[in-house]
Amino acid sequence: MTTRWQDAPQADFAVLGKPIAHSLSPMMHGAAFQVLGLEYRYVALEVEPEELAPALDFLRDKGYEGVNLTVPLKEAVMPLLDNVEDFALACGAANCIRLDDYTGINTDGPGFIETLHDLEIDERKDVLLIGSGGSAASIGLALVDIGFNLRIWSRDPNNAARLAARLGDQASVSVELDPKGVGMLVNATPASLFGESLPVLWGRCDPDAVAYDLAYGMQLKFLDDAAAHTRMCVDGLMMLMEQGALAFEWWLGLPAPRDAMLSCLLEAKL
Ligand code: NDP
Repeated sequence: MTTRWQDAPQADFAVLGKPIAHSLSPMMHGAAFQVLGLEYRYVALEVEPEELAPALDFLRDKGYEGVNLTVPLKEAVMPLLDNVEDFALACGAANCIRLDDYTGINTDGPGFIETLHDLEIDERKDVLLIGSGGSAASIGLALVDIGFNLRIWSRDPNNAARLAARLGDQASVSVELDPKGVGMLVNATPASLFGESLPVLWGRCDPDAVAYDLAYGMQLKFLDDAAAHTRMCVDGLMMLMEQGALAFEWWLGLPAPRDAMLSCLLEAKL
């Protein structure tokens, strides 16, 4: 069921976007509050980009402390903020807002990086970043910051070129989806959610590469296609947990109960 922001219940935190009914964030944050005995409430609310300014004011006046933003609001929020952390400013997008001072941060890229620890990605090899939207910008910037070189492919090469220019010397445009010599392929498009394959030249993929799709919660075409060619396939569930955990910690100043958050997401996925 979808709740419009004008009908927001009394609560403390929310995820805003459109569509929003499918979001697992309320369940994940609810599990975190419950395990720590915190009496906070986190809900999902539908907001269109042109309604974002009145929606934020309304929620702040209603006593909400913070919101997460998802498609299509992460970029739209930027001109509405009074304070923006440097990383979010460089991405041009924020996914986590504190409402008492209208400060915005971006936890997508840092959350993604947290998920790489156990994947043993070869840091000497390039990453093939697929897509050039908000999450590609955040993840691309975070990867460049820790020293990776990126090849960026987008169905519109002009968008790939714009993102590469923004990320600097460590990023270049890939005209074909050619994974030769790549240590990790990151699908930062929603193609899998539509059941669509991407035109990856899988036969040229190194068998030790990791295929990572940011989407989650269903059978993912990208990972199905990758399975026969790569060492490991990873979906976006762990990233969802990590970006949420970083938001939790920023809002509340408490360590996030990651195990409880992940367990609840894994249960929801089954
Ligand atoms: P955006 O809309 O900002 O960007 C989407 C990108 O994908 C654009 O480059 C767009 O190209 C491209 N694209 C869209 N449809 C297709 C298609 N059918 N084939 C090829 N390219 C396509 O979205 P986000 O960056 O916010 O999100 C992208 C994905 O990442 C989504 O699946 C989202 O659910 C997931 N995500 C997961 C998170 C997690 O925590 N696991 C966090 C954030 C995002 P064009 O510019 O040409 O339209």
